[in-house]
Amino acid sequence: MNTFFFYWDMLFGALKPYWAELVGSFLMATMGNMATIRGTQKESFRLFSSAFYTLFIKDLTAVAFTLIAALKLNIVISDQAIALTHLGFTCLIAALFIAGAFKNMKLYFSSVALTIILSILFAGVSIGLSLSEKWYSVGNYLTSLYLTLGLLVAGISFYINPTTRRNTAIRSVGNGFIVLTICYGYQLFDLVGNIQQLILLAYLISIVLTLASQAQLLNIEVTQLSYRLEAEKKSKRDVWEISPFPIMISRLRDDTVLYMNPVAQQMFLLDRLEFPEYRLADYFVNKEQKESLLTLLRQTPVVKSFEALVHHPKKNNDFWIDLTTRTTDLDEEIVLFTTFKDITEQKRTAQLLKEQASTDPLTGLYNRRQFEILAYQAIQSSRRYNHPYTVGMLDIDFFKKINDTYGHDAGDAVLKNLAKTLKDTLRKADVVARYGGEEFVMFLSNTSPADARTAAEHVREAIADMETTVNGKVIPITVSIGLSDDQTTNLAGLVRQADEALYASKANGRNQTTLYQDLHRRTYPKMPEDASKRK
Ligand code: GH3
Ligand code: MG
Ligand code: MG
Repeated sequence: MNTFFFYWDMLFGALKPYWAELVGSFLMATMGNMATIRGTQKESFRLFSSAFYTLFIKDLTAVAFTLIAALKLNIVISDQAIALTHLGFTCLIAALFIAGAFKNMKLYFSSVALTIILSILFAGVSIGLSLSEKWYSVGNYLTSLYLTLGLLVAGISFYINPTTRRNTAIRSVGNGFIVLTICYGYQLFDLVGNIQQLILLAYLISIVLTLASQAQLLNIEVTQLSYRLEAEKKSKRDVWEISPFPIMISRLRDDTVLYMNPVAQQMFLLDRLEFPEYRLADYFVNKEQKESLLTLLRQTPVVKSFEALVHHPKKNNDFWIDLTTRTTDLDEEIVLFTTFKDITEQKRTAQLLKEQASTDPLTGLYNRRQFEILAYQAIQSSRRYNHPYTVGMLDIDFFKKINDTYGHDAGDAVLKNLAKTLKDTLRKADVVARYGGEEFVMFLSNTSPADARTAAEHVREAIADMETTVNGKVIPITVSIGLSDDQTTNLAGLVRQADEALYASKANGRNQTTLYQDLHRRTYPKMPEDASKRK
């Protein structure tokens, strides 16, 4: 136990003159390091921090020297070596303070040069002086003066730098440095007896001031950050609010609509309070359209010119939009930022133009051009599946007379009625078109010659039974039909042959059907009596 107390006393005795500075410098160094993590003037804080760490090491070395002497080990360290170590450290610490101060004053170029010059000057002179016993105390004095000046410059630098001057938080670090300067100044002039308490007090003040500055800095940063975020958010919203294009923001996670600008609200007839009630999916008429949009968004962050059929959630009214959407971050959420335009009118016009180009305005049937396109496709696919097909030409009998007797408008009414009968009588898969004037053409797919003749006879009978009433008068008509089922020729050949068969029907007394192929087996074949009666 005695040895324990012996060593304890020895360690305590060695630490006693330095403990305040050890604790103080370590804390200051650590806080300085913290300041380099974030905040301004990182470079100078790093240097200040290094200065305090060096001070800590210097004191540890001094403690080690005391212990070595007290332990009476076989190591002899001369007083001069100790003094030189002490002076060397002190000069380095002073140099680091001055370098940090110059960095803080933004004297970047001169900071290194000046510090080196000053250090060499002080270190050289004071170490040189202290080598002689007579001048030792002068050298020591100079070194301490250098350290004190270094601290003072460091403290003042916070008042000179234009950014730190206005920053009360950072300036309090400067205040701490000035307190330390006073303390080291006192030590310098040996004005106070118990320097330990003063050093401790000075460090405590500096530490409190530095801590306060850190807290204040943190607070300033947080406030500035939130101000900036708020301002950014606000300016973004301002732009969205006045945008002439509809904008909708929805949360990807649960499809909730978070924002709709006034134009979008107007488009969907919703107000500020109503739009949060609907999810994005509620706007899509076809859910598959929304799914395919989401699939696209999984592949790319931006989807442009996506056409979707949407409806007013409150009104039964569908319309087409062209939308551009992107996934983005908003308030720590992944959202879909969507802008769009109403293209219903555009779509309608396009559809109308397409219809106009392919249909006959009077009867609504396909025109000759569209017939040629569709019949050509039908021939291709019929050939692929080896299905038989037939082309039929139909012409109204003595139509001139109908025009002459009942007027052109009555003739038109007959044409319209006939078109309707044609469509109703034939199958959906068949193609019927107005070939021109009062001539019609039909393409019967997947139909044998016998079935084609039956179908044509049904058409002919249905037209004969048709009643078109104009001004209270019923206008009866009949038609003649020509068919061809030649699977070896092209469409033009089929039409020519059907036309020839039609001519034969006319020549043979009208109101009948002729198959081109029969025509060339026999001359002007008579339709079998029962064929016309088959239903
Ligand atoms: P045929 O039995 O020999 O066919 O005698 P047809 O009088 O029908 O003779 P043709 O086929 O040559 O006559 C066609 C007539 O159809 C001539 C024209 O006035 C009439 N026509 C053609 N297109 C229209 C139309 O769009 N509206 C009306 N009302 N008549 C039309
Ligand atoms: Mg004709
Ligand atoms: Mg005719």
